[in-house]
Amino acid sequence: MDEFTNSDPRLRPASPPKANRQPNGPVEYPVTPETFPELDRAFRELAHKANADEYHLVILGDNFGGAGTDFSRKVIGIGIRVINSGTLEEVQGTLGHEFGHELIRRYPELQSTVRADKTDQQNEELTADRIGVCLTGDWQSAIAELASGTSIDPALSVEERIESLSFFKPSDCPVMKSDQSKTATFPSFNR
Ligand SMILES: [Zn+2]
Repeated sequence: MDEFTNSDPRLRPASPPKANRQPNGPVEYPVTPETFPELDRAFRELAHKANADEYHLVILGDNFGGAGTDFSRKVIGIGIRVINSGTLEEVQGTLGHEFGHELIRRYPELQSTVRADKTDQQNEELTADRIGVCLTGDWQSAIAELASGTSIDPALSVEERIESLSFFKPSDCPVMKSDQSKTATFPSFNR
């Protein structure tokens, strides 16, 4: 049985979440306005910015760490170990990264070669970090989330991801520059 142990009540359930057992997957706890009001609000805001209102958030139980996106089900899953050990702001950083993957899937032109010595998959991870910062507008929390190491993708080291983000600031996000030529490259950010 999973327990929610974060000292921050925003990351503990306000009412008991329903456990949905997935075939061949961990148990899922749907995040709703009733179960996790603050987390739900933060998720809905990010989903709206990413033009992905159809997405749902679940917490992956069974002592799961990390996070992932199921494009076919339109579900973002975040491991209970992240929920129990992070701050709400760090969790938002993780969610921003996952929406980054969804945006890259929809708009392949968003994918950038952050480092020439890395594979496409590794560059997608770095690009998703950057899109996450653009969505949350919170560079500090993104760095803190990476440094905490609770949701790290094994494709890259923590140090490589922090180094990549260190050269990237929210002010580098195209939409914040109101540059027409660049907002055209980030169509969903232009709202
Ligand atoms: Zn990722």
